[in-house]
Amino acid sequence: MIPRSTAIPKSPSWQRQLAQSFTRLSTFLEWLGLDRSELSHLCDDSADFPFRVTRDFASRIHKGDANDPLLLQILPLQQESIVADGFSLDPVGDTHAAVSQGILQKYHGRALLITTAACAIHCRYCFRRHFPYQQQHLEKQLSDETLEKLNTPEISEIILSGGDPLTLNDKRLAQLLLQLTQLPHLKRLRMHTRMPVILPSRVTPELVGMLRDFPLPVTTVLHINHPNELDESVASALRQLHHGSRHILNQAVLLRGINDSPEILRQLCEKGFEMGILPYYVHQLDRVHGSAHFQVSKQRALKLETQLREQLPGYLVPKFVTEIAGKESKMPIGKF
Ligand code: SF4
Repeated sequence: MIPRSTAIPKSPSWQRQLAQSFTRLSTFLEWLGLDRSELSHLCDDSADFPFRVTRDFASRIHKGDANDPLLLQILPLQQESIVADGFSLDPVGDTHAAVSQGILQKYHGRALLITTAACAIHCRYCFRRHFPYQQQHLEKQLSDETLEKLNTPEISEIILSGGDPLTLNDKRLAQLLLQLTQLPHLKRLRMHTRMPVILPSRVTPELVGMLRDFPLPVTTVLHINHPNELDESVASALRQLHHGSRHILNQAVLLRGINDSPEILRQLCEKGFEMGILPYYVHQLDRVHGSAHFQVSKQRALKLETQLREQLPGYLVPKFVTEIAGKESKMPIGKF
């Protein structure tokens, strides 16, 4: 028996589950019952953005179905090496928006913190898949210089981003939140995360307590693209999260062959709403190198928006937007 004083503390279950994620494509495909030879278009070498998915998310993929809409979001394909016109390494101008290490400032009143490079899932269309995280993420603690940069009446909202801020452990997150309370001009905190969906056990009582105790309103923006991503484990996590986050919103990315259908988008908005999520944005794909096979045309996106409006009450219709580097806000897709 290990003496009490030297026993290694157990990590929380979410961290153990995160460590059990699939990171080898071949193991994952075998688990899924898919024959590699049927998937000749797979890419075996995606070292710069390796395959990764949690077992939670994987469990919502239909076994044996090579066209499952959740699977298609994470499968590295040879098409990723196609050099397509208009696609680039930094489609939304993140590097130009960096005002200091780990801080991006694009829009009036808001500053976005690159809290970490880590994600629990690697979405193949991710606009930050080529982001230079080595040079551009925050130190463990916000330095005095960083706090100084953020301490201005011009910044009333901080956005925790990454990577995924909820891959940080509670200690790091608590330190960060504590440091943010030192900013007298702050009015709101926003957190962009996929974790409550990708790894619902991340929503622990400790996390909820931390958010609840933060002295300003907290908004969580999730990223869910397809209604199949939502199951009872996510619903249960969101019930808890509502005790710490005043608003829970969703932004989806419009993805060819995955959610570019009025029926799927309607189901996403309705099912999300049943779980307390308000539709926020449907983003036109950010044209990052390696993602051209996901692109949906502007005409199709506009039609989908109209079809959703015809089927849903206004408060359930997300705004269809695109991000153009250098613009002062996201743009409605009909206006560019
Ligand atoms: S979770 Fe978000 S930041 Fe991470 S890979 Fe997916 S889209 Fe990119």
